[in-house]
Amino acid sequence: MNLTSLTAVALGKKIRAKEVSAAEAAAAALEEIKKKEPQINSFVTVDEEGAIERAKEVQKGIEDGIYTSPLAGVPIAVKDNICTKGIRTTCSSKILKNFIPSYMAQAVRNLEKAGAIVIGKTNMDEFAMGSTTETSYFGAVKNPWNTAHVPGGSSGGSCAAVAAEECTCALGSDTGGSIRQPSSFCGVTGIKPTYGTVSRYGLIAYGSSLDQIGPIAKDVTDCAAILEVISSYDKKDSTSVRRSDLDFMSALTDDVSGMKIGIPKDYFGNGLNEEVKQHVLSAAKVLEEKGAILEAFDLGLVEYAVPAYYVIACAEASSNLARFDGVKYGYRTDDYAGLHQMYKKSRSEGFGPEVKRRIMLGSFVLSSGYYDAYYLKALRTKALIKQEFDKAFAKYDVVLGPTAPSTAPEIGSSLEDPMKMYLGDIYTISVNLAGLPGISVPCGLDQNGLPIGLQLIGDCFQEKKIIRTAYAFEQTRQYQRSPYGSGIPADKAASWKGGDRA
Ligand code: GLN
Repeated sequence: MNLTSLTAVALGKKIRAKEVSAAEAAAAALEEIKKKEPQINSFVTVDEEGAIERAKEVQKGIEDGIYTSPLAGVPIAVKDNICTKGIRTTCSSKILKNFIPSYMAQAVRNLEKAGAIVIGKTNMDEFAMGSTTETSYFGAVKNPWNTAHVPGGSSGGSCAAVAAEECTCALGSDTGGSIRQPSSFCGVTGIKPTYGTVSRYGLIAYGSSLDQIGPIAKDVTDCAAILEVISSYDKKDSTSVRRSDLDFMSALTDDVSGMKIGIPKDYFGNGLNEEVKQHVLSAAKVLEEKGAILEAFDLGLVEYAVPAYYVIACAEASSNLARFDGVKYGYRTDDYAGLHQMYKKSRSEGFGPEVKRRIMLGSFVLSSGYYDAYYLKALRTKALIKQEFDKAFAKYDVVLGPTAPSTAPEIGSSLEDPMKMYLGDIYTISVNLAGLPGISVPCGLDQNGLPIGLQLIGDCFQEKKIIRTAYAFEQTRQYQRSPYGSGIPADKAASWKGGDRA
């Protein structure tokens, strides 16, 4: 058995019981990464030296009784838009390819305080803009269930790393579904917390009013344990919320009796793959058998979520990404005449096509004359979407639906039609617009052996309800390992077409 095939909590337990050392756990992850990276490409940077060094320190800390958390000694991968002091943080963009932060994101600080060990930085869609992890400057990530398919995005590297068992758990970020959708495509579990729960300090901003960091792992228990560690009030993030209910592991009770679950009819109409639909509805049935009360309802405004999201996210991105100008840090063009040309060439050469498209769209909707027509209208729509959820949560504890309309598409098939790709976010983005928590848990495989995700959405600050429901569902099934998780099968490895890792 390889140590990376354990859950993070199980591995942590072995470490605290001195059955294995933190150094052995780090070495096991590093070995799996070496073996699988040529096929999966889920990491941009692997901090081999740092992880080994830190494992020694942590081991001593465990022995001295300093680190007692379930994550003490556990290696964790961190998405490459989360700043790590001394470890290159690229956002998978050429413009930040050599950026080494001088500070640690608060979420990573919290992990380190608990004794977790950062093993490396995971590949992602450039600046977290995308749904397939194909727009990375460091090459596309492959889905460990079938390397001809995408892992989803934008946290595709984190989800693929967990599914391929290169490490036991990871951090991702979710602006419009980037934790939940790749979790669904890779057969792992991921939580997007209530906005304000995890500090955004050190998370490189995309759509600041929507961005949240969250856990990605093999099961609900791991996600609850990680979320408990990374959540904190932080005065360095002006949108941080002071909460006293962060004991998420207390919700792992396997009890959903009397829980009211609303199923939005609008999430099961046109555009939803039939197999996904059947598996999600069967999952709902399982919860009903365990004592939950199901009811179908009209959520309303579902079709406006995608346009409102893309206007708001792009508007914020155009402003947030103005800081990458070749002056202060990041890439600067070699050859220029004067300041303006330096800006222009650095940005033109540094950003990829999807990021440029969004900066242009965002600048347009914020420009005078269009601000009211697009941006303000999108903000009003956002407020109305929140009201729809408020109405739903007056009646239900949890809202249940699919995470994504389909399973993972083939590599290369999504980027040709960005509009179609944006529509794939239909079930996840309203959760960000309304600031709610959401979880994706695996609920089956389609005929091609690709994973399907069940999404559970809670009211603001009700993570425990979705954790409780997801955990109860999970107890009825076995964790399914990806082919790459259980060892590289020669036939899969041979079909891999190679990547352009820089
Ligand atoms: N797919 C969405 C987008 O491209 C969501 C991305 C995210 O959550 N970071 O914007």
